Amino acid sequence: MKGTCIICGCTESTPCFHVDDHRPCAWIDAQQDLCSCCSLQVIASPIDGTSATDMALVVRALRQALVENMVEIAELREVMAMNMLAVSNRPARGGLWTPGS
Ligand SMILES: [Zn+2]
Ligand SMILES: [Zn+2]
Repeated sequence: MKGTCIICGCTESTPCFHVDDHRPCAWIDAQQDLCSCCSLQVIASPIDGTSATDMALVVRALRQALVENMVEIAELREVMAMNMLAVSNRPARGGLWTPGS
């Protein structure tokens, strides 16, 4: 059901909290029926013996984890690109500079 976590039953007004940093949970996607705490549990739980419904949840949880990592990777790439630019600009600037100018 939209607005209630199908696993732990938390809602937007009564979120559960992550054990690691105590931040309140958030919906992992627009379906708003699986919270971030439970998605981590879903990923961590063994695949064996899970029903078809659970498999769908695992896929959703993994997809969300992937999206989060993609954002992180994109940010890292941006930082790297800026560093590369800074490095490649250094000799170029030195080449443009002429004594006495
Ligand atoms: Zn939950
Ligand atoms: Zn929750």
